Amino acid sequence: TRTPVNVTVTGAAGQIGYALLFRIASGHLLGADVPVKLRLLEIPQGLKAAEGTAMELDDSAFPLLRGIEITDDPNVAFDGANVALLVGARPRTKGMERGDLLSANGGIFKPQGKAINDNAADDIKVLVVGNPANTNALIAQAAAPDVPAERFTAMTRLDHNRAISQLARKTGAAVSDIRRLTIWGNHSATQYPDIFHAEIAGKNAAETVNDEAWLADTFIPTVAKRGAAIIEARGASSAASAANAALDHVYTWVNGTAEGDWTSMGIPSDGSYGVPEGIISSFPVTTKDGVYEIVQGLDINDFSRARIDASVKELQEERDAVRELGLI
Ligand code: NDP
Repeated sequence: TRTPVNVTVTGAAGQIGYALLFRIASGHLLGADVPVKLRLLEIPQGLKAAEGTAMELDDSAFPLLRGIEITDDPNVAFDGANVALLVGARPRTKGMERGDLLSANGGIFKPQGKAINDNAADDIKVLVVGNPANTNALIAQAAAPDVPAERFTAMTRLDHNRAISQLARKTGAAVSDIRRLTIWGNHSATQYPDIFHAEIAGKNAAETVNDEAWLADTFIPTVAKRGAAIIEARGASSAASAANAALDHVYTWVNGTAEGDWTSMGIPSDGSYGVPEGIISSFPVTTKDGVYEIVQGLDINDFSRARIDASVKELQEERDAVRELGLI
């Protein structure tokens, strides 16, 4: 029998948390044979609701769930953590300036990064979901100097999944026939979903689509603005698909990408593809045995270059802003 994996979820009482926890407990984060212990971190006002969710987790009698602990203390929440899903964040409210948003989130992600540094297991893997995810991940990473920087990642898997789905719809292909799609840059409106290296049933996707106007005017904005479209349609945010993507991100990181395929993850840049070292930007990556690697040697055409550069510029501005605020 395997030792349970300690999984910490912050913002556990929120919408994404509610869609996430039951599937973690049923084996969709790590695998159907991996027992888990859950640690739920909430702010004091969220503790009672987290307890309610924990009651429902109990009532589901998940065979893989070996314990639930609820706390508002990051040092307790991350003690021995193997996987940390940082979901709780300060949302942008009306009239809020970017600086205010970044400092509010600095107040959350800096102490959490330090608590991870001081308490997590040696093999800790961190996924930041709470927005602005890339920069929140950078803040946490900077506060954890003893943890290898590459363990801090930000979620662009939802964008990746959305792009696959849009491409499948446009071409009539099955989602499972699509490989090698890439999200570059920031998880924001500037993100760039790239189909120039993608394949549909083994054929180049951009050539199959052969419609640059659709790419520029429909596909890219549809993927980038999907979150807003869902809020408009359902009157609530895309919590279930965000939770699903968080599971996909960690599952792929731990269990590997399929031969010949890759995925998209926000990761600290090593300078590949002209993305300045250190910023947390989305890249095409393969994963194996819990380690990811950037896919190298892709030709970047002018169409892609301009869009990658624009998103990377936004990430540099966010980094400069948190640097000025003393958060990194
Ligand atoms: P959600 O669970 O809906 O969202 C949490 C975060 O995920 C937000 O930053 C949100 O960004 C982000 N997110 C990323 N992708 C998506 C997506 N596709 N759709 C929706 N959200 C996405 O927020 P709730 O307000 O329901 O819950 C947040 C919880 O976090 C609360 O219970 C609060 O108490 C807790 N919290 C805990 C903290 C802690 O543990 N220290 C700190 C702060 C909050 P966006 O805002 O851009 O939608």
